[in-house]
Amino acid sequence: MRKPGKIVIVGTGFVGSSTAFAIMDAGLATELVLIDVNRAKAEGEAMDLNHGISFVKPVKIWAGDYEDCKDADIVIITAGANQKPGETRLDLTKKNAQVTKSIVENIIKYTKDAILLMVTNPVDVLTYVVYKVSGFPKNQVLGSGTVLDSSRFRYLLAQHCQVDVRNVHAYILGEHGDSEIAAWSLTNIGGVNFMQECLLCGKNCSPEVKEEIFNKVRNAAYEIIGRKGATYYAIALAVRRIVEAIIRDENSILPVSSVVDDVYGIKDVALSLPAIVNKNGVAKVFDIPLTDEEKEKLKNSAQIIKNVINSLDI
Ligand code: NAD
Repeated sequence: MRKPGKIVIVGTGFVGSSTAFAIMDAGLATELVLIDVNRAKAEGEAMDLNHGISFVKPVKIWAGDYEDCKDADIVIITAGANQKPGETRLDLTKKNAQVTKSIVENIIKYTKDAILLMVTNPVDVLTYVVYKVSGFPKNQVLGSGTVLDSSRFRYLLAQHCQVDVRNVHAYILGEHGDSEIAAWSLTNIGGVNFMQECLLCGKNCSPEVKEEIFNKVRNAAYEIIGRKGATYYAIALAVRRIVEAIIRDENSILPVSSVVDDVYGIKDVALSLPAIVNKNGVAKVFDIPLTDEEKEKLKNSAQIIKNVINSLDI
């Protein structure tokens, strides 16, 4: 097992600082570096986290600079603007693509080996930007993708069926955004395919109930942002889970975003599919058996992301 290593977080706003806290609490890093264009913010977060250091596994935390990416195992990017009420993730694109480009240009001055984990939205488009600007191999660049959305989906299914969320296996795939798809055909609870019959009630959910659950997943960020202005705890835990799979070389299957090589004819675009995540980053993207309808929706989602990528000047 790889030793807990050096992790750099670029962007210490709501998402970056919550992620730092989650990683620190989980004991996944021995060195945690915080970088932000607002230096005082990074320093304040480092001070606050350091004051809790006696309660967790040993870790050195400091507000740093891009030089600190040298020897990093993972560089997580959460810098950039977040969604404002009523704004879609794709609205953020132009703003955040330029921010991402300049950050990656700085990172690659100091490392060619770190795994680059993108979280800033629109995460699929920006994962592609990171891949292009860094020139790193595909496996070394990933985005948090629909790991969060899939967790929301599992939570809502667990609530609906009144069963432990850990027994619910379900994926949201494609874009982390409005064109994402629920892979209902892959959903299973306790080993029983949800589409055949529900393990608990012995019936099938109506299309209306399924649509309602999926809409709640897809609109979750809008609902939270409308109430508290931002989302950060669940994404921080999702990122912690991805980091854990990398640091512990777990071969975990997670729906991360990565640049795919011909899955159902989809290529040269970053989007989420179930993938093996280990110390090398994205070790393998699965060519999963979807229904024809799901495949069409996935292709549509890929095209939407691609159109945005093509509109960028990177
Ligand atoms: P925030 O405004 O609280 O924090 C952003 C931070 O980035 C700020 O501290 C800012 O100073 C810093 N920053 C801006 N430009 C920078 C640069 N060039 N270099 C270094 N730092 C820079 O925003 P937030 O709520 O933390 O959200 C961050 C991003 O995460 C947003 O794009 C948001 O949409 C995204 N997000 C993604 C998911 C997901 O599932 N992928 C979930 C929630 C939020």
